Formats: sequence, structure tokens, C-alpha cells
Amino acid sequence: MDKVRKSDAEWRAQLTPEQYAIARQKGTERAFTGAYCNEKATGAYACVCCGLELFDSSTKYDSGSGWPSFYQPLAPERVAEQRDGSHGMQRVEVLCARCDAHLGHVFDDGPKPTGLRFCINSASLKLEKAPK
Ligand code: FE
Repeated sequence: MDKVRKSDAEWRAQLTPEQYAIARQKGTERAFTGAYCNEKATGAYACVCCGLELFDSSTKYDSGSGWPSFYQPLAPERVAEQRDGSHGMQRVEVLCARCDAHLGHVFDDGPKPTGLRFCINSASLKLEKAPK
């Protein structure tokens, strides 16, 4: 996949301050505050930075965590994972494979069929609603 690379100034100009803080600086929105936490619409969730479609609404479920949760990405190669030892925790960070946007983390307490919970910040996503 060809990478999308922009300078911090370019990202800052393109994104809202909250989107920039979360997607480009590995921030986390407060639980239950994100725009898509309770979103039920059908469509694809794309990277807010580069537009790559990352998750399908059919794999979204209510985890009760306070963040949009998915049991799998739209395709495995769309997301990258890396170890994250910040905040005194050992977690696996999830990033957009195309532009390296911080999306959230993946945990192994998800539902079938994958058993995974991709716990993703709303601010890193843009829902492209399917036509009704
Ligand atoms: Fe991206």
C-alpha cells in the first residue's frame, strides 16, 4: 500500500484540534463522548486523516467500553498493529496502515468469530453512510 505522508502542519490544517490530538498525537477521547459510540447506521468507517476505509458497520458491536468497537477490520492489511507500553499498560496499538493515524487499541476479549475487540476512537474515524 502506498503511504500517505504529510507534515504536522498539513495534518493540523486538515483536522479539527480534537482529531489532530487523537489521530496524530495518540490521544484518547473520553469514554462515551465520541460521535460514533452509539452509532447504528450502515456504512464504512474510514480513516479521518486519509480516507482509507477501515471498518464495516456490520462488524461493529456494543462492547460497553464507551468507544466504538469492531471485531475485525475491513481487510487485515488496512490496519497496522504495534506494541504500546504507555500509561503503565501493555497494549497493542492499532494504526491506519496508509497514513499511520492512531486509531485505538486491540484487545482479545471480543466476540465471535474473531474474539478481538478493536477499540477505536470516534475522532479517528469518518462514517461513510451506505445509501438507503
Ligand atoms: Fe489513514
